[in-house]
Amino acid sequence: MRLTRYFLPVLKETPAEAQIVSHRLMLRAGMIKQAAAGIYSWLPLGFRVLKKIERIVHQEQQRAGHIPMLMPTLQPADLWRESGRYDAYGPEMLRIKDRHGREMLYGPTNEELITDIFRAHVNSYKDLPLTLYHIQWKFRDEIRPRFGVMRGREFYMKDGYNFDIDRDAAIHAYNRHMVSYLRTYERMGLQAIPMRADSGPIGGDDTHEFLVLAETGESEVFYDTAVTDLKLGDRHIDYDDAEECAAIAKEWTTPYARTDETHDEALFAQIPEERRRRSRGIEVGQIFYFGTKYSEPMGAMVVNDNGERVPVHMGSHGIGVSRLVGAIIEASHDENGIIWPEGVTPFHVGLVNLRQGDAQTDNACEDIYKALAARGLETLYDDREERAGAKFATMDLIGLPWRITVGPRGLKNGVVELTCRRTGESEELSPEAAVERVAEIYTPHHAHHLGLPAGA
Ligand code: ATP
Ligand code: MG
Repeated sequence: MRLTRYFLPVLKETPAEAQIVSHRLMLRAGMIKQAAAGIYSWLPLGFRVLKKIERIVHQEQQRAGHIPMLMPTLQPADLWRESGRYDAYGPEMLRIKDRHGREMLYGPTNEELITDIFRAHVNSYKDLPLTLYHIQWKFRDEIRPRFGVMRGREFYMKDGYNFDIDRDAAIHAYNRHMVSYLRTYERMGLQAIPMRADSGPIGGDDTHEFLVLAETGESEVFYDTAVTDLKLGDRHIDYDDAEECAAIAKEWTTPYARTDETHDEALFAQIPEERRRRSRGIEVGQIFYFGTKYSEPMGAMVVNDNGERVPVHMGSHGIGVSRLVGAIIEASHDENGIIWPEGVTPFHVGLVNLRQGDAQTDNACEDIYKALAARGLETLYDDREERAGAKFATMDLIGLPWRITVGPRGLKNGVVELTCRRTGESEELSPEAAVERVAEIYTPHHAHHLGLPAGA
């Protein structure tokens, strides 16, 4: 993408309304624009990041064997009366009437709708296990929308629902989700710690929230630093193997990690003092096992292998896709702007032309631009007639992890400069070698789709 043909409305001034760094940087980098309180338009740069995150979520869900679909944003109120949640949900639910006076609502979550789909089509244990998910906009009329996309009213969420024959099978689904979530966050360059949580309005026995440590997080968290040493890396995982999933879940949930809602001071005190941490965190996901809470009242039954009709065991699992954009920035920025992890960066590399209009420099940039595209790399080429300082400031603000700088002085010696946004370190290389290096850096990220169904 050539910057002169793009739409990147960066702001010079720091917007006064933004209280936390991710919100300020998203506004300054031209990623979002507020439409109404807690409701945002995603401008092109922000949209690219949102889609990168969404894609990772899709890939990791499908790797775990979960099936994508799409449910509507608007739902009939009657379904929620069946589960008993229509009155229980309170003012966070946006209630709407259509022209015929029928009561509708903008979905804050989808347990009722998915249970209705399930009961219409599934009757036998032979069709289980089944996990369906979608990524769709939600609306919760939050009393205090704030922090930009982190606490919006309209927000983008992955929500998935498992249907299993009994508790054991549903616990496998729970653990499978935990492992797939750990992988998902790791690919985004994040450490999200599963913490024992309270069940809240979704209800249920078993639930973990995933928290990204950040000073600006809304939750108070308590943990043993042993949990922060854990990493999945490129471990091969067989998601059908219940024992393997349970073992990984156990590895991550054995060290103490809880939010203030479930914190137990006495248990916490048993951890060696040097490993005890009290901090703040951003909730980027949550998983629940809730048994027959919805299947019973809504009649989602299957015939088991004894010929009896039994309610299915369910769980639901959410990832805050739009909140993650802010959470990643909270976890990865400096005083000059955003620092995107390679897995979610809007463009893989920035190309800066130091002397726009100089034939040799322009040609070198065009060649590099084409060579990067030929490698499947997305480049933002700053081809504006601007001072070098202004071009660098823009690149630093929008946070592309790698930058290639091309100027007449370097070209005289046959070199360009490759700069790492995170460390600030630069290296002089031939244009060909610079392209090669960037391609190598992204190879592991591009390899993630291998072995997945087309479209994942
Ligand atoms: P919170 O406690 O932050 O209000 P929640 O526990 O009510 O969130 P869940 O029902 O668990 O939310 O939804 C799944 C995920 O959706 C959350 O982990 C979070 O990442 C995201 N999410 C929830 N509410 C919002 C919101 N208002 N704006 C942006 N993302 C949200
Ligand atoms: Mg939650």
